[in-house]
Amino acid sequence: MNAPTPQPLLFQPTRGNADLAARLRRAVAGMVMFDPASRGRYATDASIYQVDPIGVLVPSSAADVEAALDVCRDLRVPVLPRGAGSSQCGQTVGAALVIDHSKHLNRIVALDKDAMTVMVEPGVVLDQLNAWLKPHGLWFPVDVSTSAQATLGGMAGNNSCGSRSIAYGNMVHNVHAVDALLSDGTQARFGPASEMQSASPPVRRLLDGLEAIGARERDEIALRVPTVMRRVGGYNIDVFNPQSERPYTTNGSVNFAHLLVGSEGTLAWTRQLTLNVRPLPAHRALGVVNFPSLYRAMQCTQNLVALGPSAVELVDRTMIELSRANPAFRPVIDAALTGEPEAILLVEFTGGDADGPLRRLDDLVALMGDLGLPGSVIRMSDAAAQKALWDVRKAGLNIMMSLRGDGKPVSFIEDCAVPLAHLPDYVDRLTQIFRKHGTRGTWYAHASVGTLHVRPILDMRRDGAAKMRAIAEEASAMVREYKGAFSGEHGDGLVRSEWVAWQFGPRLTRAFEEIKDLFDPAGLMNPGKIVRASRMDDASLFRFPPGYRTLPIATALDWSAWNVQNDPLTDTVSPPGTGGDPAHGFAKAVEMCNNNGHCRKFDAGTMCPSYRVTRDEAHLTRGRANTLRLALSGQLGPDFASQSVRDALDLCVSCKGCRRDCPTGVDMAKMKIEFMHHWRQAHGLRLRERMIARLPHWAPRAAAVPWLSNLRDVIPGAKLLGEKCLGLARQRTLPRWRRDTFLGNRSAASDRQQEDEADVVLFVDTFTNYFEPENARAAVAVLRAGGYRVHVARAAADDAQSNRPLCCGRTFLAAGMVDEAKHEARRVVAALAPHVARGAAIVGLEPSCLLTLRDEFLVMGMGNAALRLSESSFLIEEFLAREHRDGRLDLPLAPLPESRALLHGHCHQKAFDALSPALAVLRLVPGLDVQLIESSCCGMAGSFGFEAAHYDVSMRMAELSLLPAVRAAAADTLIVADGTSCRHQIDDGMRGAGRRQALHVVRVLERALAAAARSDGIPR
Ligand SMILES: Cc1cc2nc3c(=O)[nH]c(=O)nc-3n(C[C@H](O)[C@H](O)[C@H](O)COP(=O)(O)OP(=O)(O)OC[C@H]3O[C@@H](n4cnc5c(N)ncnc54)[C@H](O)[C@@H]3O)c2cc1C
Ligand code: SF4
Ligand code: SF4
Repeated sequence: MNAPTPQPLLFQPTRGNADLAARLRRAVAGMVMFDPASRGRYATDASIYQVDPIGVLVPSSAADVEAALDVCRDLRVPVLPRGAGSSQCGQTVGAALVIDHSKHLNRIVALDKDAMTVMVEPGVVLDQLNAWLKPHGLWFPVDVSTSAQATLGGMAGNNSCGSRSIAYGNMVHNVHAVDALLSDGTQARFGPASEMQSASPPVRRLLDGLEAIGARERDEIALRVPTVMRRVGGYNIDVFNPQSERPYTTNGSVNFAHLLVGSEGTLAWTRQLTLNVRPLPAHRALGVVNFPSLYRAMQCTQNLVALGPSAVELVDRTMIELSRANPAFRPVIDAALTGEPEAILLVEFTGGDADGPLRRLDDLVALMGDLGLPGSVIRMSDAAAQKALWDVRKAGLNIMMSLRGDGKPVSFIEDCAVPLAHLPDYVDRLTQIFRKHGTRGTWYAHASVGTLHVRPILDMRRDGAAKMRAIAEEASAMVREYKGAFSGEHGDGLVRSEWVAWQFGPRLTRAFEEIKDLFDPAGLMNPGKIVRASRMDDASLFRFPPGYRTLPIATALDWSAWNVQNDPLTDTVSPPGTGGDPAHGFAKAVEMCNNNGHCRKFDAGTMCPSYRVTRDEAHLTRGRANTLRLALSGQLGPDFASQSVRDALDLCVSCKGCRRDCPTGVDMAKMKIEFMHHWRQAHGLRLRERMIARLPHWAPRAAAVPWLSNLRDVIPGAKLLGEKCLGLARQRTLPRWRRDTFLGNRSAASDRQQEDEADVVLFVDTFTNYFEPENARAAVAVLRAGGYRVHVARAAADDAQSNRPLCCGRTFLAAGMVDEAKHEARRVVAALAPHVARGAAIVGLEPSCLLTLRDEFLVMGMGNAALRLSESSFLIEEFLAREHRDGRLDLPLAPLPESRALLHGHCHQKAFDALSPALAVLRLVPGLDVQLIESSCCGMAGSFGFEAAHYDVSMRMAELSLLPAVRAAAADTLIVADGTSCRHQIDDGMRGAGRRQALHVVRVLERALAAAARSDGIPR
């Protein structure tokens, strides 16, 4: 495994920077990180580049940044401000001290409703701001697709633009003032010129210098600066001679903050932003226009824009098909289509009253009739339907990004902006250019402003760089011909700063350099971006340069599905295992992370619970994937199973949130299993880890003497001893061993007779059997009440350990004991195969156990037998919901004393879309109002929360939303949770605070059955 390093170590400890690190540590209270893995995690953004930063500072306050700038100035160290690092052009990577202000500098400072402005720190995330503004009836309308992670500091840095920019403009149109810190230590508030009359002498000198450049270059500005609204390249020198078709200020006056907007951290550090807010639109309506060709859609865009919509967004045929391939999205997209269009345009109208947008839809329908496309518009006035369609559009992009193989959709001409009149020809000609270079692109997004997104598929490890330049040159010639902007949304960074001179000419390029030097004479702020740039195809800056190789490692799990190559022209992927990855596909799976930063989101989804409590890049899916990638390619040293990787994975609770929520399907839980396998081989396991892993083996003995096994929670001092010796948190109770285990019970044994006729085979996991046997009994009762013949799964007769209950192997997997897990899996497959073969449903109760049969079993080398088992395995709620939907289940249920139930979903339930069935089944209980707790991971996650080292993080995860929701629930509300860990966490978390016992879904159904039986006098 520890083969010789295949390529140079990029993340060497930087000897010359010891002085910098030491001085920073003395000067600041925040985190100072100079270790190779931390630097490696800040070496990339959502671009194709990778540059080793000198070090990383996570400041705890603005004062930290001031102090750090003083040190950097003294030592002449460059500085690179960073928010979420979701930039696509490489503007957030560089050989500098990276300052990540997203963790602590994220306060919303003040709202001024009279002035309609809000003041924020740079690390505030757009969704966070808009959620805060909503109760005031306001919003900040620059609605970038990355709204869940993009920070306002980064959005200002990039002059970001949203889907509705046609109505609201870009960042530059919505920033009122910037409180900035310059690299020489000067602090100033940059805003309207009229408000800067009393600037300090050094700031006045700076402003005078800028104005002189503006006056001198007046004619050149008029000649060279594109007039399209979507122009974000270079500096906004047109503040001095307005060019944009949407002026930055209403009266053409100068606002110096606008020079800082779009400056990509090259001029100053933004300490605070004052933003213009808008009233939330009360009503929206969506018209979906279906077109027979992409060309026709582009031709009509101008006419549509003339109707005054708030958005006109394109979805092309490929995206439509990708969306239709997903069963969940198919009905949504189908509802928006008439026939088989080659493209659709989503045309949105907003208004203060409900009728306004609807009347505009009438206008749209009439217009399309006039344009010769009658009947082409699908009207959507329902807010939920509109949201569903916008979500589909986003998902289509995600599917595109999840292309496996080394060829990836590369962003470098993704946001050229051309005047609407030229859009049809631009799209047509660029498509031909792609074809000429052996690739293709999918078109989508902002038709309204002439900024269509398109990413040709290129392989940067092979001939991608040459093709990138060739395509960029041909595209730029077209952009020039059409008088458009080469950089229309995502900024310049490393991929397009080279093109600034091409776009603006030598005079303005020199003027930009002068502007840079006036603000930052020492050249410390994010050097090499916008001015004095490197070439876009400088391979030494690539994340995957030609010759990129990975360590040859023998993997424990089967990653061959990722070990493929794709052909963009034929749209085909080579067979599994043919991709040439020395790590057998594991490295390629890890490389699926394209750094878009979506795992930093805080919405209702699961991903990523550890980041939600720590806000550290290291404890983020992206940070973990980057650490793995660097380790797998030998960039952190020759040893893949290193402590730095272990540290990065330590707080991963294996919730599989990323498996579902990550746009490219990065499955860190599976990756952690693989890593832990290598770690165990290299370093062994601790006693506690071995003990927990082997629990299914020693459980029968522990359950035989429950009075002894349960002593730890009874004897004074035993908890403390357990913490000292085993690392089990003393604050925790342990699950209670039961003598009346389910599988030891005679009635379960009697099910053996029904074995061959059973419709349902109940897979009773270790936890249910030994700790909560009543759940299995309830399951049997419910299934039988539904008329099913139930058999309880047991080991095959020829199983060498036929007396030991079946086990999914999860505890072994968590410890990286993959061989032991495979042994358990083979027992399960062997035992259940005959039942699967005769069409029985395999039903389980514990999500993490049952879903192992559907997930990890498939990558354990068990072939078709495992595949067939996975297709026949269901959580009990999935089975019951399906049967009810298909009219085969009619349980006699009666109302319960409780009228409300709150459901907390287990993370794996969420990852496998098994929450809606749980809701559906609970809603079968008459009169029960069932609500979902919008929560991420409960924090217990198997043994994670029991460990002393993780107790604090575990409780903080629970306190994010789960425990507050349980506390707020009325005493007569049922708390429902299907995960054994989740129930335990709720139990522990509510101790001393009005104890609440959470129930498995089947227990609720069992009670409703009993209630029905009582009411009709029939015993059940
Ligand atoms: C899938 C995907 C979709 C995207 N969609 C859009 C979109 O719809 N519209 C759009 O405009 N962009 C989009 N982007 C690009 C990117 O998400 C946006 O530009 C976003 O606003 C960047 O925010 P951030 O917090 O990640 O900034 P970062 O990437 O961290 O930083 C951006 C720039 O701002 C500078 N900066 C950050 N903070 C400061 C500060 N305090 N002081 C000075 N300079 C600072 C940085 O140095 C850098 O140059 C998309 C990116 C991806 C990956
Ligand atoms: S792990 Fe997924 S969501 Fe996170 S940055 Fe990578 S690709 Fe994006
Ligand atoms: S499995 Fe869960 S905790 Fe681990 S990286 Fe994915 S989302 Fe985060």
